[in-house]
Amino acid sequence: MPSQHKTSGRGGYTPKWLVLHGTAGGSSAEAIGEWFQNPSAQAATHYVVGQDGHVVQCVNEADTAWANGRVEAGADSWWSASSPGPNQVTISIEHVKSSTDNSNELTQAQKTASWNLITNILNRNPSIKRVWADSTGGITGHFSMSPLSRERCPGPFPWQDLFTHLNGQSNPVCMGTVTADSLNIRSAPNSQSTVVGSLPNARVINIQSRVDGESVGGNTGWFYLGNGSGYVSAAYIKVHITQPAWCF
Ligand SMILES: [Zn+2]
Repeated sequence: MPSQHKTSGRGGYTPKWLVLHGTAGGSSAEAIGEWFQNPSAQAATHYVVGQDGHVVQCVNEADTAWANGRVEAGADSWWSASSPGPNQVTISIEHVKSSTDNSNELTQAQKTASWNLITNILNRNPSIKRVWADSTGGITGHFSMSPLSRERCPGPFPWQDLFTHLNGQSNPVCMGTVTADSLNIRSAPNSQSTVVGSLPNARVINIQSRVDGESVGGNTGWFYLGNGSGYVSAAYIKVHITQPAWCF
């Protein structure tokens, strides 16, 4: 279902990130594909995955889909508003979610179709790393560049399942979600150390390691963030699954 909401080519850039979205409304991949053909939309992603597992393609991977908007305050540091803009260096996938706040979980059929699609894309685009995104590439959600207007895009998403699927049980990735309203990142695993940044509520984080530090409400765990920026108290992180064991 080709959409005209694209720019031919990628301005000489190669995609390094895969960005996952939720539609916040809509009934099927086909209906979203039609919307991406409507001049009112002025937007499209490369692919849409329906709740029934149907996948439609709207933009060729070699072209720049108009999928991601502004780079907002609080965005991950590697995004730039221009040269290259996020759309020039990303492949984007919409996941149909019928609720307007993207609160739906993926259906089993949708997850299977998405994992197959993502595996296929990564096999053809080795420049996209099979890890949670950092400045060198990887996989993330729309909130990564638009944490104000797209904080809930894609909303609940089985990130851990995805990385386990991509990397296998032999290389589990510890990931979690911030439960505090705003969580300080510290230079050391205690509340007296320097605040080096903060994370908003509901942000998904990649965790590199767990150390013991100051007790926070009886929890002595502190997580060293996967991007190397510092430590956060484990008391304010909901770890996704019981893998790997050191997460807990
Ligand atoms: Zn989005």
